[in-house]
Amino acid sequence: MNMTKKGDIAMSLNLVEAVTLCEVGPRDGLQNEKQILTVEEKVELIDGMAEAGFPVIEVGSFVSPKAVPQMANTDDVYRAIHRKDGVEYRSLIANLKGVERAAACGCRKVKLNVSASKAHNLANLNCTPAESVAGFAACCDAAKANDIAISGSISMAFGSPWDRQIPIGDVKEIVDAYLAVGIDEISLSDASGMAFPTQVYDICTEMAKSYPQVNWWLHFHNTRGLGIANIMAGMQAGFTRFDTSFAGVGGCPFVPGAAGNVATEDVIHMCDEAGVKTGIDLDKAMAVSRRLVGILGHATDSYLLRAGKASDLIRELPTGQIKNQTEIKK
Ligand code: ZN
Repeated sequence: MNMTKKGDIAMSLNLVEAVTLCEVGPRDGLQNEKQILTVEEKVELIDGMAEAGFPVIEVGSFVSPKAVPQMANTDDVYRAIHRKDGVEYRSLIANLKGVERAAACGCRKVKLNVSASKAHNLANLNCTPAESVAGFAACCDAAKANDIAISGSISMAFGSPWDRQIPIGDVKEIVDAYLAVGIDEISLSDASGMAFPTQVYDICTEMAKSYPQVNWWLHFHNTRGLGIANIMAGMQAGFTRFDTSFAGVGGCPFVPGAAGNVATEDVIHMCDEAGVKTGIDLDKAMAVSRRLVGILGHATDSYLLRAGKASDLIRELPTGQIKNQTEIKK
């Protein structure tokens, strides 16, 4: 049997050839940090990730500054970033006011969110999912009128602390509601960190079969160390769009002990090793993540920042032979 080498696509795993990653750290990651970053610091990080090759970056959110103080300067950040051609700079919104703020600062892509859990939606947005859905149409009309693209996400799609398993029929109802208001780019989010690979594969396979017209994103938090495995399962089901967070920063205010999204550099490294194209320069992305850790002044959940790349371990012997792992450990 021929062994898979670095950069080969493992035929037996049936992986996709290329993926599109979104850096969500500036929004999902930083909103859980106590330290409020300045506009200049955020611009440096966002420009750095665009330079590294990220095709999509979630810059911030247009929500109540009282509810999420870290995101209060999102409008100013949009005005200050050095936009790179071909990069999509998206932002999270909660309502019509969010579309208005997006239009005013030149944001061209917004994302709505609803929780798949009725109980969580009440806690998060103070209304039921059905009431959230009723508000989507007005946001979509306003976005269209302002030439702003709009997408949607479904948090807790893989389970919630209030419901455990969410019936797939409940998730489909929300997908139907998004489609009804003209949104066909939808993210399935595991904010609670309850997703596991076999479940991810099954749900993704079912969703892709039921809704071939939808452009899907997957959004995994690494709360129980399954983020990378869940991304692999998504890839095996043919999904190609994934959110990641620089240095793995983040959490979720509604979930005890929640970790951030799976670390950007860990995902790029895994894809590089597996031969799945990301179009992103790993070294440049790692430099941005290191800079973030420097700004925050505390360690984060990133394997790569702690251990470096696998290829960094490989050393040349005088004879040209490669040392094996046991020799390196000595
Ligand atoms: Zn999240």
